[in-house]
Amino acid sequence: MPDRVLHAISTAESGSFCTARCSCGWRGPARRARSQARTDAERHLADAETGPDTDSETGRPLE
Ligand SMILES: [Zn+2]
Repeated sequence: MPDRVLHAISTAESGSFCTARCSCGWRGPARRARSQARTDAERHLADAETGPDTDSETGRPLE
C-alpha cells in the first residue's frame, strides 16, 4: 500500500498548552492537558482510518 498516508502522532508542548500533531499535516487544538491532546490525536486516527466519507446508510462495514 504505497499510497497510504502515514499518520504518526506526536505532541508538542508550548507553555502550559499541549498540541497534538500528525505527520499528515493535521494539528489538534491547544489543550491544557496532554491527555486531552492525546484524545484529539486518537480521534484523528480513527477518522483517518474510516475516511471522511462515512456512509453508514449502506450498513456494510468495511473490514
Ligand atoms: Zn494524520
